[in-house]
This record gives sequence, structure tokens and C-alpha cells, in this order.
Amino acid sequence: MVTLDYLVQYAKQTGFIFQGSEIYGGLANTWDYGPLGVLLKNNIKQAWFKKFVRQGPNVVGLDSSILLNTEVWKASGHIGGFSDPLIENKTSNQRYRADKLILEHDPTQKPDGWTLEQMYQYIVDNKIKDPVSGTTDWLPIRKFNMMFKTFQGVVEDTASEVYLRPETAQGIFINFKNLVRTTRKKIPFGVGQIGKSFRNEITPGNFIFRTREFEQMELEFFCKPGTELEWFNFWLAYMQKFLTDLGIRPEYLRAEPHAKEALSHYSNATTDIEFQYPWGFDELWGLASRTSFDLTQHQNLSKEDMSYLDPETNERYIPYVVEPAVGVERLLLIFLLNGLEEEQLGEGDSRQLLKIHPALAPYKAAILPLVKKEHAGKANEIYDMLRENFDVVYDETQNIGKRYRRQDAIGTPFCITVDHQTMEDNTVTLRFRDSMEQIRLSVDELENFIRKAVKF
Ligand code: ATP
Repeated sequence: MVTLDYLVQYAKQTGFIFQGSEIYGGLANTWDYGPLGVLLKNNIKQAWFKKFVRQGPNVVGLDSSILLNTEVWKASGHIGGFSDPLIENKTSNQRYRADKLILEHDPTQKPDGWTLEQMYQYIVDNKIKDPVSGTTDWLPIRKFNMMFKTFQGVVEDTASEVYLRPETAQGIFINFKNLVRTTRKKIPFGVGQIGKSFRNEITPGNFIFRTREFEQMELEFFCKPGTELEWFNFWLAYMQKFLTDLGIRPEYLRAEPHAKEALSHYSNATTDIEFQYPWGFDELWGLASRTSFDLTQHQNLSKEDMSYLDPETNERYIPYVVEPAVGVERLLLIFLLNGLEEEQLGEGDSRQLLKIHPALAPYKAAILPLVKKEHAGKANEIYDMLRENFDVVYDETQNIGKRYRRQDAIGTPFCITVDHQTMEDNTVTLRFRDSMEQIRLSVDELENFIRKAVKF
């Protein structure tokens, strides 16, 4: 696997990801997605929406607001409890997440379920040093709320305070009644949503792994109490299959169940799918069985009835919910890490290659005239025909070998070359990214060929 530094350079050079606000010296931990990045992000979202919503078991979509009534965050527990344990070093004034310091010291520990005092004691007992000052003079750990606050309207006072959502899930819960009424769906059913979330993380970093602004893809799957663990297992297998079907190597993945004592108070099962990043295994995708906690909280605070009447048994209950939640950028990161390599071709030759599923590849094909003067007209015709339906790119600069390599490096699965023979028999050379094999194909067959190849 390539290093993180290599990936950051690659992403910048190729146009996947640029540093945010770069011309002003940057804004720490913000990233802008360039022409290739935006295509890859869109493809990831489309793949998720297709598998989890369109083809999911009884699932519909939703797009709720980023700004919500502050009561929502009281009910969900975010205003009181959405915080990370913050520890500050007196010498350097640097701040850290105490649980992460402990895990860096010993990855086998499970600080998630510990109290602040237990974490502090561990750091003191094990003489964990501040990586900056090298000292152990720590201030006591305190809770740091990660919600971003802003003001709505023209007056900046506490009455106009609102929060940017730290997760998309609550928008689904507060719409539960609307969703049941308008879809007439019977339980079990799910609601999926893709959207931006904001968390004032204490220690963002590792490129796009942890940022303060990110996009989530969350599914809330409502089911009858007692059936949630069955659905939990169903979704765990579904998430794993999604990743491996899209080419993630199984050895880079592992499922880590949370220990009973580390579970959030509302959860009766939680498992993280972890990926082996350059710094080790770390969270990719969370799966949580959240019981009826959220709907019950909203029922209590809003006084709206959130129960569901089962039309078959005439039972009334508040549904349980199982939630697979993943970040778009984390998926983007692992598809790049999983696929990027310097492939040795023998005799000292090598190429940069991004092996990525054709469904995710930013460009599905590159259309290349062999000789610009003679073939550009025909190549442009093919380009116009294909971009009706696919993201494709046209390139007429430099020699054909260099153009092939450029496409290999950004994951384009097919190169279509227009040459002398094209002008005679309307066939093109089609080159495969991974094997570098070439075949001849009629121009009339191109659309069908690509459609089949990019299917997921
Ligand atoms: P952590 O413990 O690492 O802070 P979490 O367990 O709080 O993360 P969840 O609330 O379960 O994370 O979020 C669901 C998913 O959203 C995560 O698995 C991850 O893919 C993504 N995610 C969460 N926080 C961030 C972030 N700051 N930057 C990018 N993606 C994030």
C-alpha cells in the first residue's frame, strides 16, 4: 500500500483533492475535491444509493435540513452528551483526545467505555508523554462538545442559536411519521440519506480520514423489537459484500464488535467495519442497533406519537432501529489506498496504476486520436456520442504511450484509440487498463460494451 504522503501528493497532482483555501495559506484540515474527486464522490454515492436504497429491502430516500430545531439535539442527547474527552498538556498547550492518546500508547486497550477519571489515571500511571513537549504534565480531562454553533436570522443572541447537524440520522427520526404516512410502508422498512455533517473534532487529520466537515451516508432501518439482531447481522454482511464487490481486498477489512461495557447506553449491539489504513486498522463504517431510543426521546420531547400500528397483528409499538453509517470521504480514501500502486513492468519500467472498479472510476473511457491532424474529427464524434451517457475524457496531447499512462494513473478502465483503420472500417483499438491488452471493436458496439463493464 502507498504511504499517506504519497497519496496526498498524488491526489493533488491528478486533480482528485486540493488543500482547502490554499492561496490564503490554507485552512487546517479542509479539502476541496477537484474534477476527478467530484466524479469519484458522485460514483460512490450513486453506488451506495443503488445498493442501500433502490435495491435495499423496502428502503426509501430522504434529504432533510442541516439546520434543525434545537429541541432535536436536546432529545437526541447531542447537546448534553455529544462530546469527546479532551486532555491538555500544560507545557505545550496542545490538546488531544484522551482515548486516542491511550490507543496510540496501546492499541489493545478499549478506552471507549471508561470514565474520564479512568482515562486520566491510565495516562498518569503509564506516564504517557505529550508528543510535542515530551512532558507528562497533563491537566484533568474534560468533556468537549463537538457541535458547531451558528446564528439564524439577523440577531446574534442565544435565542437565535442553531447547530449544524453532527449526523444526518436525526433528520430521519423526526420525519418518521411523514415517512410512514406518505410511503405506506410496513415495518420492516428503511430510510437512507446522504448529506453533510459537521463535528468540531479535537484532532482532525490523516488527510481526509477525519475532518470537521464531511458527508455521511446513513440508513435507519426500522424493525419490530426482538428482530433487531437478525437485521443487524443482515446489514453487516450487506456492508461487507458492498465493499468486496467494489474490489476492496478482504484482508484490508475486519469487523470489530464493541464490548458490552463500551456500548452507548442506547445500543444493544455495535460493530465497526475497520480498514487497514497506513497507520493501522481504524474505523471505516459503523453499524449500531439503537433500540427505540431515538424515536422514544422525540416522542417524549415533542409529544408527538411515534408509535407504529402493525396492521397484521394490531400491535402498537415504537420500532427498533438498526443504523449503518459511513462517511463518503472515508470510502473515497480507502478506494484510493486499495487501488493505487506503482506497478513494476519489468526491465526497470513501471507505471502508476489506480485499480478501481469501473463503476467508481472517474472516467469510464478516454478517447484518443492517434494522430491529431488525421483522427481528431472522428475521435471527437465518438467523444460526443459517449458523453451522452458516460463521464469520458478526450486527450490529444503528447504521444499515445504517455496518454495511456496518464489514464492508468487515474483509473480509467478503457482507452479508445482512433487510428488509420478507424477511417476505413469504423473500428477502434480498445485498451484495458489492468492487463494493457488491446482488442478491436466497432464504434457501434462501444456504448453497449461500456454500459456492461461499468455495471455494479
Ligand atoms: P470516531 O469515534 O472515530 O470519532 P464515530 O464512531 O463517532 O467516530 P459515527 O458517529 O459512528 O463515528 O459516524 C459514522 C461514520 O461517519 C464513521 O464511521 C465515519 O465513516 C464517518 N465519520 C464520522 N466522523 C467523521 C469525521 N470527523 N470525518 C470523516 N468521516 C467521519
